[in-house]
Amino acid sequence: THFGERTVALEDKQGLVDKVFHDVADRYDLMNDLMSGGVHRLWKDALVADLAPPRNGTRPYRVLDMAGGTGDIAERIVNVSLGYAQVVVSDINPDMLRVGAERARHWRYPDQVSFVEANAEELPFESGSFDAYTIAFGIRNVPRIRKALDEAHRVLRRGGRILVLEFSRVDVPGLEALYRGFSDRVIPPLGRIVTGDAQPYQYLVESIRKFPEPAQFSSMLAGAGFKRVKHTAYSGNIATLFSGWKL
Ligand code: SAM
Repeated sequence: THFGERTVALEDKQGLVDKVFHDVADRYDLMNDLMSGGVHRLWKDALVADLAPPRNGTRPYRVLDMAGGTGDIAERIVNVSLGYAQVVVSDINPDMLRVGAERARHWRYPDQVSFVEANAEELPFESGSFDAYTIAFGIRNVPRIRKALDEAHRVLRRGGRILVLEFSRVDVPGLEALYRGFSDRVIPPLGRIVTGDAQPYQYLVESIRKFPEPAQFSSMLAGAGFKRVKHTAYSGNIATLFSGWKL
């Protein structure tokens, strides 16, 4: 794994990732809007539309939003379910969770969410205890992806669903060069202006380039036991939504 110019062992990757999100936690939402021109909101809306959480039922509908950071996905899920879904936002970084918990006090349904500090590789939840597992722009930060997918599969009930939203490889000719230039010349400097440090955003750009291609990541989902795996490209494949079922 590379961070800036250095080569970093797998064990050290988590430490770097934690520092990145510690440093940017308070400006994280602003940075997302600036860097994606607000488009990350549409991708997140699309994830939640695909999940289609129920608005009523005979038992609770429980979602684990892993690497949930400041709670973007969770808030959408709760709102779309009209306050029926119960979401656990889990993240390894207490700073991101703190920002999220503060924001959640002003949600429309503030009682439908809880925040739990945890590593995606080792979840402190019972097997079969969730109806859905979501992870948006989080899985590429996890050092041992296979372990995280195994854990996702374990905590889902049979019939439960996983949705993974992640940056991908742009596959539209023309857009490709534009995106590469934007990633190298706009993202790190913009990071420096807003958060005072370009390096976390250099890491971001590199981690996106290292993430597996959609077909390869789909095989990893299947390898962890998920069925009916499919993926959908958004915005010329800048982002990809993966879906799978525990059957
Ligand atoms: N889901 C949010 C969103 O879409 O805006 C936040 C995504 S943010 C780019 C990535 C998050 O992954 C950070 O909050 C980081 O702390 C978290 N993360 C990194 N490694 C993790 C791990 N091993 N377990 C759980 N969360 C992790």
